[in-house]
Amino acid sequence: MTQNSADILVINGTVLTQDESDTEIKNGGVAISREKILATGPAADFADWNAVRVIDARGGIIMPGLVNTHTHAAMTCFRGIADDLPLMTWLNEHIFPAESKLDYQKVYSGALLACAEMIMSGTTCFCDMYLFENAVAQAAKKAGIRAVVGEVLYDFDSPNYGPIAKGFEYTEKLIDTYKDDPLVTIAVEPHSPYLCAPELLTRAIEITRTHDIPLVIHLSETADEVAGIQERYNCTPVAHLAQLGILAPNLLACHCVVLTDDDIDLLKRFDVKVAHNPESNMKLASGVAPIPKLLEEGICVGIGTDGCASNNNLDIFLEMDTTAKLHKVKTLDPTVLDAESVLNMATLQGARALGLSEDIGSLKPGKKADLIVVDTHKPHLTPMYHPVSHLVYAVRGSDVTHSIINGNIVMQDGQLQMLDLEQVMDDVNQIADEVRRK
Ligand SMILES: [Zn+2]
Repeated sequence: MTQNSADILVINGTVLTQDESDTEIKNGGVAISREKILATGPAADFADWNAVRVIDARGGIIMPGLVNTHTHAAMTCFRGIADDLPLMTWLNEHIFPAESKLDYQKVYSGALLACAEMIMSGTTCFCDMYLFENAVAQAAKKAGIRAVVGEVLYDFDSPNYGPIAKGFEYTEKLIDTYKDDPLVTIAVEPHSPYLCAPELLTRAIEITRTHDIPLVIHLSETADEVAGIQERYNCTPVAHLAQLGILAPNLLACHCVVLTDDDIDLLKRFDVKVAHNPESNMKLASGVAPIPKLLEEGICVGIGTDGCASNNNLDIFLEMDTTAKLHKVKTLDPTVLDAESVLNMATLQGARALGLSEDIGSLKPGKKADLIVVDTHKPHLTPMYHPVSHLVYAVRGSDVTHSIINGNIVMQDGQLQMLDLEQVMDDVNQIADEVRRK
């Protein structure tokens, strides 16, 4: 009889598969071969398996890695630079001046720090929009984390590529460079309906259709944005995109805070995906997105942190906790957004939002091995009646001990395997010194 063998066996934990029926295996394990999941099941099934490496979850939780559906990774450089200000003051007097000094190297360093923070808090895949995105893609590869990245496009000149025509060239080049990459997917990312002319937006969706890739945009983030679009185009931002033919299943709309019922109908009809960023929306006082309503309509919603200057961290565990509670207090109904729904948003639904649910978001044989181990042997996690409740309401990112992405162990016993964390933090501290001097 031939013995079963795996490259990595993760055993002795409660396995939350996050599959369609939310299968939970008490004292289970996951076998990994190369970049894929080979099997999941009770620990006893793996007793006679041969494995090159064995990870003991010590009674903790083994689950799919979390998906951060919207961030601006390199904004780690500006974490805490200015808080508690009106959006336009914050942007015009603090963020935009600091960003105008960015270059490839700074974005690389900032993105690397973001990758370290995300891996160490359980995120295994993130969707990024920023300048110098080739640097973000390179940082993701260096850290070993999965990423969907796209260069931000808008009507005015960019410090990276100059005029918009060059922005499209830059995007096409990214698409070509990363077309067979195991970790990086390129998206086309026009900033928003208020910074992008109709021609820019229609060109953007055409490119995504040619290459079958995601389109990512900020949409209906604030009441001011909606008023501005109403004045220019005499309709809501969502209706404006509908008229341009931009609404589509591959569109990820970030924020969607201010929506009419007609807007929600449109998002549903075109199967648009939504990234919900509750902490950023709270901190910038943008408002509360109608997420319970979107979920009721069957619209796919993932969770994002947004850039960490408006958050100020990239911890999806905290974002889940906020998501679950914010909508309860908004609706004065404690039954909305139960823990299970919120965990789904941060795993399988997040993967769907990025067009990656065939590969990631749940633990299933044949899918890519993107998974984490959460240590539950902690005072704030004792006792544990319901693992899902803990994950949403009690676990912190710092409880994650192991992270495997694409079958590669990127964190073991809390130690990053691909990055020199001290160096990564030093580099960003140096950038902060420069920012302070200016
Ligand atoms: Zn954003």
